[in-house]
Amino acid sequence: MVIVVQQLAINNRRLKDDFNELANIGTTVGGGISRLALSNEDLEGRAWFANRIEEAGLLVRDDEVGNLSGVLPAHQRDARTLLMGSHLDTVLNGGKYDGTIGVLAALECLRTIKEAGLELPVHLEVINFTDEEGTWQSFFGSLGFTGALQAKHLNDAEVDNGAFRAALFRAGIRPSEVHRAKRRPADLVGYLELHIEQSETLALAEKQIGIVTKIVGRSTYNFNFHGEATHAATTSRYKQRDALQGASRFITAMHDMTHADYPEGVVNCGDIHVKPGAYNVVPELASLQVECRHHDESILSEMESRLIRLAQDCAKAHHLTVIVQSVLRRPVAIMNPHMVDTIQAVCDEQQRTQMPIISYAGHDTQILSPFVPSAMIFVPSQGGISHSPREYTEWKDIEAGANVLLHIILKLAAEA
Ligand SMILES: [Zn+2]
Repeated sequence: MVIVVQQLAINNRRLKDDFNELANIGTTVGGGISRLALSNEDLEGRAWFANRIEEAGLLVRDDEVGNLSGVLPAHQRDARTLLMGSHLDTVLNGGKYDGTIGVLAALECLRTIKEAGLELPVHLEVINFTDEEGTWQSFFGSLGFTGALQAKHLNDAEVDNGAFRAALFRAGIRPSEVHRAKRRPADLVGYLELHIEQSETLALAEKQIGIVTKIVGRSTYNFNFHGEATHAATTSRYKQRDALQGASRFITAMHDMTHADYPEGVVNCGDIHVKPGAYNVVPELASLQVECRHHDESILSEMESRLIRLAQDCAKAHHLTVIVQSVLRRPVAIMNPHMVDTIQAVCDEQQRTQMPIISYAGHDTQILSPFVPSAMIFVPSQGGISHSPREYTEWKDIEAGANVLLHIILKLAAEA
């Protein structure tokens, strides 16, 4: 099939109007957006999206985990589907761009292709994945889509399970039915996601497009340092078994280690609980939640074992014991090489400046990538700020990203 569409471009005005309209749903006082997954605002955002899909003459499709899609069907009913999209949910008081531009740009590409009357040999589907941001369960929609949702995801001790279930029911999602959302990889050509970079690599390098090569792997642990609660003033300093001192030593040491030995790795302790929690009692328990990320699977594993050894050494130095619990492990996601080459080719054709880039943030693409060939395109984030009302991407960059996406879709569809 020959598609003569070199000049085809998205309708920039229509995309911008969509963006501005959607930004009115869940607006916060400071100009941010709160569309927490399954909240009233999120449901309102989905209803708005379903209306846009119908208005464009596309088919509305929803599944058992609440993913909402618009489909431009191919003539052949048994054709495979090329999938693209992102998420319309946000963090609390987040920005207008994260997730949103990926869904809206994909919708605009489908409208453009439909209007041009192109007959493609694949179905095109734009998808909004449920709860990418993890208000209840990170990647709930994409995990359901790939059949990777497990009972523990619905019974997570970290969240109020009753409230989660109530929120699911309210959104029409029945926990006993979520397994039905699983799609068959054989039915899919691949998945494409356009997203803001969320760091400032592209902006500093003055490049328009980031071609994601991998998404970092990630590991989260609970480190529980156990000591003894005694009188803080009368217990001899040498006899104190202060859980917090051991934990503090560990936090400093793990940052030093990462800085010195793993400059491309990331480590963070963002949550500490101390017991009994009184100013005059030596802490008997310090619980830390620690996360590490790296783009190389074997280095990530090495970082994990060294963190555990370091925690044991720090515990020993303060006469403590430490119990280590793995909470989450997501492997490094490698983007599909052919799709990466296709993005590169489209950038060359459109004379867009581009660079390869590693994503340090998580995306639905990392859940999709072991399931179907997947790739991601980044556009610059000014100041590298995201999850904030100050999140900002220049409109010309969004327009460029959407036009790159359009022609990647056309190339991949033509060869399918
Ligand atoms: Zn996002």
